[in-house]
Amino acid sequence: MRRPFIAGNWKMNLDRASAVALAEGLVKKAAGTDGVDIAICPPSLYLDAVAAAVAGSNVALGAQDMYHEPKGAFTGEISGAMLCDIGCKYVILGHSERRHVLGETDEDINKKVLAALEVGLLPIVCVGELLSDRKSGTTMEVIRRQFEGSLAGISAEQMQQITIAYEPVWAIGTGEVATPQQAEEVHLDLRKIMVQRYNDEVAEVVRIQYGGSVKPDNAAELIGQPNIDGALVGGAALKVDSFIGIIAGAGS
Ligand code: PEP
Repeated sequence: MRRPFIAGNWKMNLDRASAVALAEGLVKKAAGTDGVDIAICPPSLYLDAVAAAVAGSNVALGAQDMYHEPKGAFTGEISGAMLCDIGCKYVILGHSERRHVLGETDEDINKKVLAALEVGLLPIVCVGELLSDRKSGTTMEVIRRQFEGSLAGISAEQMQQITIAYEPVWAIGTGEVATPQQAEEVHLDLRKIMVQRYNDEVAEVVRIQYGGSVKPDNAAELIGQPNIDGALVGGAALKVDSFIGIIAGAGS
C-alpha cells in the first residue's frame, strides 16, 4: 500500500518572515498526523530558515529545482549536495514552469534526476500535457515522452526513490482542476508505462501525485482514486489551513 504524499510548492512567493511563519504554523497543525508524508518546498533563499522551523517535525523539506553539476563555475546555480547540506530530503524537478517558462528540456531534467539520486535526494519528477495536447488527443504521447526522456537511464532500484507528479499544465494555478476520472486515467497509464519499462513491483511502489488546483474541497476525491497517491500543491500550500485541509483529505 502506498503512503499518501502531499508536497507544497511555494514557487517564488513569500518573504523570509512569512515563509518561516507558514512553516511554523504547519509544523504545529501537522503534529500528530501520521499515515501521510508531508513536504514543503520554499524558495531556495529561504530553505535554510525554513529548515530550522521544521527541524524535528513530521514536515520534510524540499527544493524547487537544482543544477546537475556537483560544483564549480555555474553562477547562480545550486547543487544537490548544497540542498542536502541544509537539510533537504526532496527536490522537485521538471515542474511545468521550468519546462515551459524557463525552457528546460527532458534532457536537462534527466541530468538533474541522476545528479539528485547521486547525492541521496528524492526527486519529485513532474510531467503534464498542455491544453492543446489534451484537445488534440495526444496527452499520453506527451506524458510518455516526458517520462522516458526525464527518466532515461534510471534503474528499477532508482525508480523506487522517485515520486512522479502528474500536473496537467492547463490545471496549474488556473482553478480548473482535472476531474478525478481524467487524473486517474493518466495515473493508471503511467503505472502501465512503469510495468512495461520496469516490472510490477516498481509500478506498485512508485507514488504518483496529482497537481493542478488541488484544494481542501477536492483533495479527498482526487486522492481517493486508486492510482492517485497524493498531491503537489501550489496556491493552496501558501496558507496553513488550506494545506492542512488537503493533508486531512489525503488521510481520510
Ligand atoms: C504547482 O505549483 O505545482 C501547482 C499544482 O499549483 P496549483 O496548485 O496552484 O495549481
